[in-house]
Amino acid sequence: MPHDLPKAYDPTAIEDHWANYWVKQKLFAVPTPSSSTASAQDQRPDGQSAFTILLPPPNVTGNLHMGHMFEHTESDILVRWRRMRGDRVLWVPGTDHAGIATQMLVERQVVSEGTTREKMGREAFLSRVWQWKQHYGGAILEQMKRIGDTVDWQREYFTMSEHLSVAVREAFVRLYEQGLIYRGAYIVNWCPSCQTAISDLEVVHQEQKGHLWEIRYPVLGDGGNPTGEFVTVATTRPETMLGDTAVAVHPEDERYLHLHGKKLRLPLMDREIPIVVDPWVSREFGTGAVKVTPAHDPNDFAIGERHHLPSINIMDDRGHINENGGVYAGLDRYVSRKKIVADLEAQGLLAGVKDHINNVGHCDRCKTVVEPRLSTQWFVAVNKQPNGGGQSMAEKAIAAVKADADGKKAIRFTPENYEKIYLNWMEDIHDWCISRQLWWGHRIPAWHCATCHKITVARVDPTACAHCGSNEIAQETDVLDTWFSSGLLPVSVFGWPNFNSTQGAPGPEHLGTREGSRADTALSQADFDAFYPTSLLVTGFDILFFWVARMIMLGCWFSSDVPMADGSPRPPAETVPFKEVYIHALVRDANREKMSKTKGNVIDPIEIVKQYGTDAVRFTLASMASPGTDIAFNVARTEGYRAFANKIWNAARFIFMNVDKAHEVGISSPMETIRRPYSLEVISKISSSLKDIPEETAAQLESILNRPSESKGLFNLPFIGGETAFEDRWIIALLYRTAGEVNAALENYRFDEAANTVYQFFWGSFCDWYLEIAKLRMDFGPDLDIQEIATRKPTEEEIKILERRVIAMRSLSTLLLVFESSLRMLSPFMPFLTEELWHAVWEGNPSAKSIALAIFPNPRATSDEKPTAIAEMELLQSLITEIRALRKEIGVEEKAEVPIEVRIDQDSRKIAEENHDIIEKLARVIEIRFVDQISDGLSRHSTPAFDVAVIYERTIDVPAERERLTKEIEKREKQKANDERQLNDPVFVSKAPAHIVEGKKKLAEENVVLLEKARAAWKALGCE
Ligand SMILES: [Zn+2]
Ligand SMILES: [Zn+2]
Repeated sequence: MPHDLPKAYDPTAIEDHWANYWVKQKLFAVPTPSSSTASAQDQRPDGQSAFTILLPPPNVTGNLHMGHMFEHTESDILVRWRRMRGDRVLWVPGTDHAGIATQMLVERQVVSEGTTREKMGREAFLSRVWQWKQHYGGAILEQMKRIGDTVDWQREYFTMSEHLSVAVREAFVRLYEQGLIYRGAYIVNWCPSCQTAISDLEVVHQEQKGHLWEIRYPVLGDGGNPTGEFVTVATTRPETMLGDTAVAVHPEDERYLHLHGKKLRLPLMDREIPIVVDPWVSREFGTGAVKVTPAHDPNDFAIGERHHLPSINIMDDRGHINENGGVYAGLDRYVSRKKIVADLEAQGLLAGVKDHINNVGHCDRCKTVVEPRLSTQWFVAVNKQPNGGGQSMAEKAIAAVKADADGKKAIRFTPENYEKIYLNWMEDIHDWCISRQLWWGHRIPAWHCATCHKITVARVDPTACAHCGSNEIAQETDVLDTWFSSGLLPVSVFGWPNFNSTQGAPGPEHLGTREGSRADTALSQADFDAFYPTSLLVTGFDILFFWVARMIMLGCWFSSDVPMADGSPRPPAETVPFKEVYIHALVRDANREKMSKTKGNVIDPIEIVKQYGTDAVRFTLASMASPGTDIAFNVARTEGYRAFANKIWNAARFIFMNVDKAHEVGISSPMETIRRPYSLEVISKISSSLKDIPEETAAQLESILNRPSESKGLFNLPFIGGETAFEDRWIIALLYRTAGEVNAALENYRFDEAANTVYQFFWGSFCDWYLEIAKLRMDFGPDLDIQEIATRKPTEEEIKILERRVIAMRSLSTLLLVFESSLRMLSPFMPFLTEELWHAVWEGNPSAKSIALAIFPNPRATSDEKPTAIAEMELLQSLITEIRALRKEIGVEEKAEVPIEVRIDQDSRKIAEENHDIIEKLARVIEIRFVDQISDGLSRHSTPAFDVAVIYERTIDVPAERERLTKEIEKREKQKANDERQLNDPVFVSKAPAHIVEGKKKLAEENVVLLEKARAAWKALGCE
């Protein structure tokens, strides 16, 4: 029985099941559109809007952390919502090969087995990495399945798959041909542990206590002999002096004017070096003389270039002094530092040592101190015009974000302030170092010639030098920066450059399926036509420059000569990789601290999911997510949303219990009525064969029977018929209003407003009010033999039963309809629970394979809304709430039914009269007396709309009540004294956080009110 829900909601029991179902059924797969004119414009030829989104690829070595959980929750909510709104939604998943991370991981493994990467050799090591990837890589993808991400698993990509590697190679070769890739010596951030260059973005700067050593360099006279004078330089890295090739002073520094053109003897190395003058030198810093080490400092490198100084690299890849370091060769950089300082001191050349706070760069990955070091690397010239002219990459990437002449922006950022951050960075961008000294990655397709020393860059592996024909060529050993390949994803996942007609692109033989890449779609441009540009990118600000900026640069660059689907040239606005960028916030711990392993405050999302269920975790994150606001993740909130999930579950159980009751009296399937209006045979029989049924009842039956059903068998929102009961009109009107608000909130990335609105509707209105009223209507009566009754005139009693049954059916239909709509509205936030209950609502025969493929409630015309019902219900709610409060105040027992007096205007009185049964049941009222004025002596509550009083006299045990009140008064007086002392204490008031003080004040005021009430009651007992 699909209605046989377990008594308690247990997420573990349902979530695995649906997670598997969604993947196995391939529900979210989007095949390549067949229409040859499909385009990525907002309106598709098939009438659907396209909504395409690319998952920021997690590292293949990665595991799901709270940041992912948040990013995926936001993305999946948007994706599910769009899909349910009828858009053609494609969410493309994949993983990044993560050069450094993966290589390090496998390297540690082979070291633990007693060998090394170097001993194994490149080929063997790489096949070992592939092996690791096949067996252990992409654990995070399984976690994504578990949390319900509705990605198209058929399109899963891996940045090292052959399919995507072809794009990387094409991009490299094309940029090289355009004169935008070059090889040059430059100071890079070198990590001696990872043994590769790393980008500026991968260097983390930290302040550290260090020293500033002052070293004396002897001045040489004309004969090359020391004059006895010294120039003192200061350095934080004394070992670099081994590579000094000059000392620089400011040209106008009077202290050194007499030394212009002179030479110095470099201590320890016994080398003559010139004094050069350079305006860059700061006269104010230190002695005003700086040592120049072009091979180990970016500023010195620039001075070296200006003065044509040699660059002497004194360090090897591991950070040891190399053969250029004289007697220090072979020593670790820090060992040599100690020895150098000691030697200088022994020679009397150490002028002083000062404490100094250094801003030291560390490798983001392994935390090793980074060594600025001269090395030969490959660069992309991002500010250069390509051969043949045109905009530079940076210029295109700026134009894509800035407003054009009409004020239109091809890419829009949310929150907006990221636009400025992006533009500032892009306007100041330097050439991009794209080579990495790793093995795992896309090996640079360049060959060095041993004969002519020129470079051959080619799409197909060459066998001879393109310049001299020599076959003594060897491929570059460096690989490309991981971000070079991930920057290409928006174009490469949709088949670029493997379109059948593209000139020079590799043929189909290159399109392997090694990593499950989609060779089948690689040959046509249909995917690109359909899905590029993508609609939205959801990502964190930490990869704004790493990835977002590079996707914009590369996307705009390479898509610009891909024609539109109709063959027309691609306009600039259609070259962008995405139209919108949503930068999500950070998830912090409950105290707003950043989560970090060192602090030990990291929350593992999978653990929380196990404990509370994915739905509760997703709802927690959504309820706090708004643009630009960090989330303080508090498990207490997740507990609260777990309770919300319970509430939904219990509402379902109540509804299903009544559906079963309906079954018992022969109504086969209420949901069938809703879907196919004429199939509810029993009621249809009643209406057609009971000749003597009262006309009004028959009309109501008709209205139930004739509910219009939506096309495709899918529902949007229930229809409000003319004969619907007051509470039905109200809840449906409220459902419309809620749906409108949720849609509007999601349009603006206000996940918090959307979640809180649907929460309020479901719990505060549907459960707390509508369900309670519906309970009054659920009277299906005894089982009657309808067939038999239909053959004769029914008795009065039978007609009454049938009339009540019609009311019960009508109420049950509304319950089901609103519940079903609520499930669809909740589904993007809580996909598992809603899927389970939705299938149960449809009794195992739903209108779609998944609630995720049903329609998201969306009021299309405001005329459907009946706002008067909402206002009328608000009046009733307010009346009932005031009666309940009064009852509490004067101590009416829970179960007691009491008469009330109400003063109210004529219109409102009509509403109260018509719905007296609701007031009576929900406020436990036995009689409503409408009066012009509330009788004297009754305590009352007043609102602008009405006055109400509860008539209640109770017999009380005076001595017991006196004792109770005595105790209460004592307790409250004590509390009052305490409160006054604390609130009059200036230390407390000034030191405690404002909200604590405010809260305390409020409690103190409440205590005073309750004290007064207890005293009044005491007086009323006559115990002066
Ligand atoms: Zn490192
Ligand atoms: Zn050659």
